[in-house]
Amino acid sequence: MYTKQDLEKRRQQLSEKQKLLLKKKLSKQETPNSIQDRSKNIPTTPLSFSQQRLWFLNQMDPNSPAYNEPAIGRLTGKLDIKAFKNSLAEIMRRHEILRTEFILVNEQPMQRVKTSVDWNVEDIDLSDLSKSKQDSQLQKLINDAILKPFDLKQDLPWRAVLIKLANEEFIILHIWHHIASDAWSMDVFMREFETLYQAYSNNLPSPLPEMKLQYADFAFWQRQSFTEKQLSYWKQQLADAPTQINLPTDFPRPAVKSFQGGRYRFNLPQNFKIQLNHLQQQTRTSLFMLLQAVFAIVLSRYTNSTDILIGTPVANRQKPEIESLIGFFVNTLVLRNNLSGNPTFIEFLKRVRQTSLEAYQHQDVPFDLIVESLQPERSLSHTPLYQVEFILDSISFETKQVNGLTITPIKIDSPISKFDLTLRIQENDLNGIWEYSTALFKQETIERMTVHFETLLKSVLAEPEQTISELPLLSKAEYQQIVIDWNKTQTTEYSFKQCLHQLFEKQVVLTPNAIAVSYKNQKLSYQELNIKANKLAHYLIKQGVNIEQMVGICIERSLEMVIGLLAILKAGGAYIPLEPTLPSNRLEFICKDANIQIILTQSWFVDKFQNINTFCFDKQEDLIYKETNPQTLVNYKNLAYCIYTSGSTGKPKGVLIPHKAICNRVLWHINTFGFNSSDRVLQKTPFSFDASIWELFSPLFIGGQLVMAEPGGHQDVNYLIQTLQTEKITILQLVPSLLQILLDVGGFEKIPNLKYLFCGGEILALESVKRFKRINNAALINLYGPTEVAIDATFWRIPDNISKVLIGRPLSNVQVYILDSYLKPVPIGVPGELYVGGPGLARGYLNRPELKSFIPNPFPNSSDRLYKTGDLCRYLSDGNIEYLRRVDHQIKLRGFRIELGEIETLLTQHDLVNQAVVLIKEKVIIAYVVSKTN
Ligand code: AMP
Ligand code: MG
Repeated sequence: MYTKQDLEKRRQQLSEKQKLLLKKKLSKQETPNSIQDRSKNIPTTPLSFSQQRLWFLNQMDPNSPAYNEPAIGRLTGKLDIKAFKNSLAEIMRRHEILRTEFILVNEQPMQRVKTSVDWNVEDIDLSDLSKSKQDSQLQKLINDAILKPFDLKQDLPWRAVLIKLANEEFIILHIWHHIASDAWSMDVFMREFETLYQAYSNNLPSPLPEMKLQYADFAFWQRQSFTEKQLSYWKQQLADAPTQINLPTDFPRPAVKSFQGGRYRFNLPQNFKIQLNHLQQQTRTSLFMLLQAVFAIVLSRYTNSTDILIGTPVANRQKPEIESLIGFFVNTLVLRNNLSGNPTFIEFLKRVRQTSLEAYQHQDVPFDLIVESLQPERSLSHTPLYQVEFILDSISFETKQVNGLTITPIKIDSPISKFDLTLRIQENDLNGIWEYSTALFKQETIERMTVHFETLLKSVLAEPEQTISELPLLSKAEYQQIVIDWNKTQTTEYSFKQCLHQLFEKQVVLTPNAIAVSYKNQKLSYQELNIKANKLAHYLIKQGVNIEQMVGICIERSLEMVIGLLAILKAGGAYIPLEPTLPSNRLEFICKDANIQIILTQSWFVDKFQNINTFCFDKQEDLIYKETNPQTLVNYKNLAYCIYTSGSTGKPKGVLIPHKAICNRVLWHINTFGFNSSDRVLQKTPFSFDASIWELFSPLFIGGQLVMAEPGGHQDVNYLIQTLQTEKITILQLVPSLLQILLDVGGFEKIPNLKYLFCGGEILALESVKRFKRINNAALINLYGPTEVAIDATFWRIPDNISKVLIGRPLSNVQVYILDSYLKPVPIGVPGELYVGGPGLARGYLNRPELKSFIPNPFPNSSDRLYKTGDLCRYLSDGNIEYLRRVDHQIKLRGFRIELGEIETLLTQHDLVNQAVVLIKEKVIIAYVVSKTN
C-alpha cells in the first residue's frame, strides 16, 4: 500500500507536463467535488463501496479472521501507562470510524457512530513468568488475538492489548478490522500517538487540531459522486480477461477458499539496486512497474498464459482533505499484463508502463464496483477477478523514541493469506516476503519461485533486450538437476545392438528343452518353437520377404501367433499386426497404406484380404524348409514392427519401430525387475497394442514361459482370474480400465503367485491402486509411454500409502524433458509438455513426412531427436513426474488411443454432414453434427 511519502515520491517522478496535468486534475476535483462535513447531522451513513464488500464477507463468514490487521510494538523504557492509555483513548475519540458499529437499516448495511463507548486497553501481566513461558504465552496471545473474529454489529473495529513483560518492557498489540483502517491509517495513527504521548506524559493538553472530516463523510461523498461513466475504462480494460489464474498448486484447490497463510522471506541482492535504478531511468519506469513486470513474466511461465492479472493496492488518498483520516480508503488496481507475441523485456515493460499509468489515472474507481459491473464467474474457491497480488512497500516500520520510551515494531508472520499468492517487496532494502495460501502451496514451492523470480530479474538486468521467452527461470542448479541429473539413465548393460529374434535364439541355445510357450494344452519347447519359426522364416524369404519389408499378420491368439511373429522377424521383415476384429475398411486402409504384399493368417480370415498373398497356418502342409536360424543381413537399426494408431486428420498412422528401440525397452524391463526362468507371463494384450510386445518376448529372452490366453480371453474377467490362478502367472499387465473391472469382480486375493502387476496406457486411478494393494502383495508398477517411443518412456514402482499416482522417471537410456512452447525446460512443479529422447524413439511415421512430432534434440546428449508426446506433465521435487492431461484432443478409451479429430474428419466426409464436434463424456464418445441444409 502507498503511504503519503510514497505518493509524494511518485509525484516527484512525474515529468513537468504530467505534474501540470495532475495539478489541474486535482484542483478541478478539489473545488466542486470536495468532501463535505455532512455526516454529523445524519445518524447513519451508507458504507463506502469497499466497506460494503468487507461487511458482506463478514456476514457470510463471521468467523473468518481474514480481514484482521495486526500491528505489534515492543515498548522499552519508562512507560507512563496513564498517558499511554489516554493517548489511545484520544485517538479513539478523534476518529469516529473507530467508534463505529455496522447495522442494518431497511435491509441496507449502514454505519453509525456509537454514542457511548466502553472501550479499554486490555491489560495482561506476564512479568511473573519465566522467560520461556513468557515467550510461549506471548506467542499464543498474539495468535489468538489475530484469529479472533470481529462481530461488526457490536464490536468496535479496534482492539488493543497491553502486555507487561517486565517493569520497563511491554508489548502493545493492536488488531484493527480492515473495514476501519488500512496501511496509511497506521501511519496516521503512529504520528498522532507520538504527538499525544509526548504531550500527555508531560502533562500538556493535546496539540492536535480538531478533525474537520470523518470517514463517514468520505463514504457519503463516494456514493454521491460516483458515476457509471467512471467504470467504462475498467470495463474495457478487463473485458474477457481470464479472471482465474491457473497457477499450478501442490494441493487441489479447496471448494471454499481458505485464508490460512504462510510467509516466506527473502532478500534480493543489494547490487540489484543500482542496476534497477539504471534500468528505471533508461525506460522511464518506476521500481514498481519493473518488478511487477518481472513478476508477471514468472506467473506467465508458471501458467502458460500471456494474459496475467495482478492486483495491487493503492492508497487512494489523492484528496488532501482525507490524508489525515483513519479508515478503509485503500483501493485495488487490477493490472492486466499482456505478454503476447513474445516481446523483448523492454517492449513488455513499455506495455506495463502504459497499463500502470492508465490504472493510476482511474484509481479512484472502487474495485468492488468493477467486480460488480464485470460480473466475473463468482466462486467461493477464488477471490474475485484476481488471485495474485504484488505490493511494493515503501512503509518501513522504524523504531521510535518518545519521551524516554522506545517503540520497536515487531514483524509478525500473520497466519493469514488473503490471496493465493502475494509478493511484497520493500522499496528501501529490496527485502521480499511472500504470503501464500497454505491450502494450495508448500513452502518449498514458494522457495523455488523465489529463485525463479531472482534468476529472471538478474537476467533482465543484464540483458533487458532479450525476448521474454529467452529469459531463464531455472537457476544453474535446477537446470543441472532437471535436464542433466534426472536424465542420467545411461547404462551399458543393454546391448541393443541385437534384434528381438536374436535375443530369443540366444535363449534357445541355453534352454532348448524348457517350455517356451503354451496355449491351452499345447506346448512348445524353446527348440520346437525355434524350428517352427525358422521353417516359416525360410518360406517367407523364399516368397521374397526382404529386410524391412512389411509383413501383415492377422491371427487369433495361439501358438501360431508367436511362430508367425518370430518368423517375420527372422526373415528380416517388420510385422504389422492386423487384429482380426478390426472393421474391414480399417484393415484395407492399413494394407494399402503399408503396401503389404504378404499376410500370415488363418483360413477363416482369408476373405478379408483380396489381392494379397496369404499364408494360412492351418491350411499349409508341413513346411519342408530348413530348420536352422536363417542368416540375413537384418540388424538392430532395421524395423521390427509397424503399429497403427489414430490420427487427427482422419487417417491412422503407422509408427515405425526399429529393433534397438524395442530391445532397449524389453531388456530394461527384464533387468530392472529381475525376471527369470521361473516366471510365467500371461499374453493377453491384443497384439495391435505395442504393450503386447513385452508380454510376448520378455519370457522368451530368459527361459521363462509365455502363456497365451484364449482369443477374446482378455475381455472375459472370470476367465482371466481363473487363468491367472491355474496357470500360476507371476507377471501380468493390465490397462487401468481392465484392472478396475477385475477389482470390481474380485479374485485378486486368489492369485498368490503374482509378483508384478504392470499398468499403463492410460491414467491409473488412485482408488484402484489402493484397492489392489489391500488384497494382493504383488508389486504394482505404473508404466507410461506412447507407441512412438517403443511402449514406455517412464515407470513408477508404486510405494505404499500414496496420495497421487505418478508416472515416475525415465527408464534406462531414455531422456525426458518437460518443456514450454519455446522448448525451454519448465521448473519443478510447473506443467509443460513431455518430450522423450533415447534409443526407444520410432524412426517416424510410415509415409507421413508432414507430421512434425519428432523434432531435433535441442539438448546435448546422445539422442539426435525428441518425440513430442502431447502429454502435459510436471516434475515433483523428488524427480518423479506427474501426468496431468493431454494438450490436444486425443483421448484414451479402455486403453484405445483415439484422436477425436479423426472421428470428426470422417463424419464431415459424409454427404449429409456439414460440421461435426466429437467429445468424450464419462467414457462415452458423443458426436454432434450439423447437417447440410437442403
Ligand atoms: P499409446 O500410444 O496407445 O500407448 O498411447 C499413449 C498415450 O496414452 C500417452 O501419450 C498418454 O496420453 C497415455 N498414457 C499412456 N500411459 C499412461 C499412464 N501411465 N498414465 C497416463 N496416461 C498414459
Ligand atoms: Mg503405450
